[in-house]
Amino acid sequence: MMRLCAYDAVLMGSPVQLKLAGHDEKLAANVFRLIKQQENLFTVNRSPSEVMAVNQAAGKQPVAVSAPVFALIKRAREVSLLPESCFNFAIGPLVKRWKIGFQGDSVPPAEEINALLALTDPACVVLDERQQTVFLTRPGMEIDLGAIAKGYIADRVRDYLLQQGCDCGLINLGGNVQTLNAPEGQQAWAVGLKVPFSSPEALIGTVSVSNRSVVTSGIYERYFEQHGRLYHHILNPRTGYPLDNELLSVTVIADNSTDCDIFTTLLYGMGVEKGLAYLAAYPQIEAIFVTKDRQVVLSAPLQFQQLDERYTVTDSTA
Ligand code: ADP
Ligand code: MG
Repeated sequence: MMRLCAYDAVLMGSPVQLKLAGHDEKLAANVFRLIKQQENLFTVNRSPSEVMAVNQAAGKQPVAVSAPVFALIKRAREVSLLPESCFNFAIGPLVKRWKIGFQGDSVPPAEEINALLALTDPACVVLDERQQTVFLTRPGMEIDLGAIAKGYIADRVRDYLLQQGCDCGLINLGGNVQTLNAPEGQQAWAVGLKVPFSSPEALIGTVSVSNRSVVTSGIYERYFEQHGRLYHHILNPRTGYPLDNELLSVTVIADNSTDCDIFTTLLYGMGVEKGLAYLAAYPQIEAIFVTKDRQVVLSAPLQFQQLDERYTVTDSTA
C-alpha cells in the first residue's frame, strides 16, 4: 500500500499542508510554487499584485486584469451585492485600518470607522467585461479578497493535482481544506474542527469527506483583545466593527472551496437560524455552526464524529 506523505510550508501567512499518497517531492514543490504564484495575483499586502494595481488606481482609472482575477472579482462583487449580504469585498479600507492580527491593531475612533464605511460600497467597483478592467470609482477605495482567495487557490491546487494524474490527496491552506480521493483502504478524509481558543491539536470533532472541500471561519483565527473585549477579523460591513452574534465559527462543506469560502462569511453574518433557512435553497452546500454556548448545529446529516464531550451536537434536519 502507498504511504501517505505530508509536506509543510508557510504561505500567505498561514501553515499550508499537502498530503499525497506516496512520496513525490517534485509534485509537492510544484504545488507550493502554484500557491505562491496565485497569492501574487491576489495579495493586498505586497506589490506588485493585480489586485494592488487596481487599489492603487482608485479614483483615477480602470486597470486591466487577467481573466482569472477578473472572474474572481466579478464573483466577489455579485456576492457582496446580495441583499443583506455580510460579505463585502470592498471592505479593504476598514480591514487596513483595524489591522486585526497584525502589529499595531487597536480599536479605531468611531468617526474614522464611519468615514471609512463610506468608501466600502461594492457598487462603486465598476467592471468592464469587454476590456477586462476593474475601476474603483472613489479615491481611497480598496478591494480585499481575503474572504475568498484561499478557497479559490485551494480549487486551483485540486485542478492541478488532477491534471497531473494525482487523484488522491488533500491540501490545507490554513483552515481551507480541499480533498481528492481518500487514501487506499479508507472511505474518506477526517477533517478536524478545532476547539476555539485552545491548542491546535484539540478538536471538537471531525467531518468525513472525499472530493469535497471543508472551510472554517472563526472568531478565534485572528483577533486582538482590548479592555476585555475581543475583536476578530470578520467585519460587519454595515457597522464597520467585527461581526457580533452567537457564533464562534462556521464550517462549510461543498464541492468547491471557493463556494465554501464565500458561504462561511455569508453564513457567519446570518447566525444559526437565518443561516439554516438560507441553506435550504442550496442542497449541495452543508454547514456546521459552533456557538458560544457550545452547540454544534449540523445543517444536514453529515458524517460528524464528536471528540469533545463538552459540546452538544444536533442535526437540524433530524
Ligand atoms: P480566514 O481563512 O483568514 O479566516 P475568512 O474567509 O474568514 O478568512 O475571511 C476573513 C478575511 O476577509 C479578513 O481577514 C479580511 O481580509 C476579509 N474580510 C473581513 N471582513 C469581511 C467581510 N465582511 N466581507 C468580505 N471580506 C471580509
Ligand atoms: Mg471566507
